[in-house]
Parts: sequence; structure tokens; C-alpha cells
Amino acid sequence: MEEPKIIQEFNLADTPPKSIRHYWVELITDGMNNPMRVPIMVARGAQDYPILGLTAAVHGNELNGIPVIQRLFSEIDINELKGTIVGVPVVNIPSFIRKKRRFNDGVDLNHIMPGKENGNVSQVYAYRFFQKLVKHFDYLLDLHTASLGRVNSYYVRADMKHPVTRKLAMLQGAQLIVHNPPSDGTLRGAAHAIDIPAITLEVGNPNTFQRKMIKSGIIGVDNVLSYLEMTDDEIEMPAVPTVICEKSYWIYTDVGGLLRVHVDLMQAVKKGDLLASMRDIFGNLIKEYFAPEDGVVIGKSVSPVNQTGGRILHLGIVK
Ligand SMILES: [Zn+2]
Repeated sequence: MEEPKIIQEFNLADTPPKSIRHYWVELITDGMNNPMRVPIMVARGAQDYPILGLTAAVHGNELNGIPVIQRLFSEIDINELKGTIVGVPVVNIPSFIRKKRRFNDGVDLNHIMPGKENGNVSQVYAYRFFQKLVKHFDYLLDLHTASLGRVNSYYVRADMKHPVTRKLAMLQGAQLIVHNPPSDGTLRGAAHAIDIPAITLEVGNPNTFQRKMIKSGIIGVDNVLSYLEMTDDEIEMPAVPTVICEKSYWIYTDVGGLLRVHVDLMQAVKKGDLLASMRDIFGNLIKEYFAPEDGVVIGKSVSPVNQTGGRILHLGIVK
């Protein structure tokens, strides 16, 4: 592999047909006037389209997507590929370096997409990222994980009323899909707004590489490549069918203290089941939390110390 070239914007013509190239895309300059560059991997097959975009670490501490992209590229048969794959292993450069979720001005990049041309620090970063990369894609898979102090099942957020995003979601073979119309400000929503079908993959836990999660992520991306006829591989579906939730929400604590969550990821709960208990620092029970309705546990807190308003668990409601 030759030294990655520095470029200003993704341009299909930079990569010869049937080859893989790495690039640094210049986005902004930092306070030293040094360039801040996003790494991209491009695999251009025998035919140019469609262009499938894969993005990871929009939240700087969400790492499982990085090896998914790396492994995918290491396994591509470039002579058989039809179309182009663009992998962005890290979107949020300053926060990846600091191992933080939010951008370095404290803003969540996944709330301000597609950014603003003459905006503030995070807005202009989001804008240039979107213009230089995302707008060139025909499809987008955005890879995330749970946030710090929480754990997730392997789940997908997608608009299940849109036929293409529904299909992309089903192909992931995830444990769970949450129907979620593309909401404003997310990368998924901004892509959707310019007619790029996009889904969000929540691949496990932050700040770590999880082998099983990474493997599941790769199978899902491979399935999408087959579905888009970019490869001739067979679609591989999991033995356990995906649970589809029509909606989901978080349950929060209404007092502070030391929280213990008693249910497991993917556990089905019935209305009235004990979910969690809160104790004070002397060990006295302050409060118990019960399931408000039947559902399934998508994600949960693993962080005991909670102020009033702490997250307990993410409950999915199955149709
Ligand atoms: Zn995220």
C-alpha cells in the first residue's frame, strides 16, 4: 500500500478502477494552523456505482466500527467488486484523540448534521465533512456504540417505513431493530434528507474493541454488499431472528444514589417487573423501579453513581 495521499475532497477519479487507496481529507486547521484531516479508505471496483459509505466514531470514543471497516477492506476481492466502498474509520478526529464522545467544543456532532458553512467550530467541521464526503454516497451505514457507563445489545436504528432502509436494517442480522424516523441533526437524518438511504448501527460498548460485535458488524455490511449486488456472496442471516421494536425510550431515575439494574440485555420484561433498585450510601433501599409496560432491554446503565435523572435502561416496545 502506498503512502496515503492528502486530498481536499473525495473524488472517485483519484482511485483507479479495481484498486484500494487510503487518503487524508483536509477538513479544517487547528489553533496551530495545522491541518486536521479525516482518514478515508476507498475501494473502487470494476464498475463505479453504487457508492456505499461507512462511517465510524462520529462520537470519538465509539470504536467498534473502526475494525469493522478495516476488516472489510482487508477482505474485499477488488477484482470482483462492483461499485465503490468509502470507509471513514474516524469522523470525529479531535474527540477520537481525547477518547471523548463530544466534539472539542462540547457539542454532539450527531445533533448538528449537516452543519453550517459559516458556523462555529463544530458546525463548520460537520459541514465540511458532509460536503466533502457524505454527499457523494448513495447509501450510508453509520457505526456507533453505547455511551460511556452504559452497555448495548447489537441494535439498529432505522426508518422501518422506508423500504430501502428497512431492508438495510434487516440485513444486519442484529439482535434488535428500533424503528426511528430519521430525526433532525443526526448524520443518518441529514443523509436521508438528500435521499441517501442511511441506517445507524449500535455495535456494542464504547472505548473498546469487542470481537463478537465486530464480527456481527462485518456480516451485516457483507450482507448489504450482496443486496446492492456489489458482491456475489450469499446473504447470511442469524439463527436467532431480529426483534423489531416500534419505538423505544429511556427510563430515568427520579432520585440520586447508587443504582443497580437487575435485568440483562435482550431480556423480555413484563409490566410491573422489577428493573432496578436505588440505595443510599449507607446501603438503605431508597427506591425500586418497575417496568411501565411489556418490553425488551436494548441498553442499560452499568454506572452505579447516579444523580436524579440518571439513565436506568433503554426499553424497546415490540409491536
Ligand atoms: Zn454514537
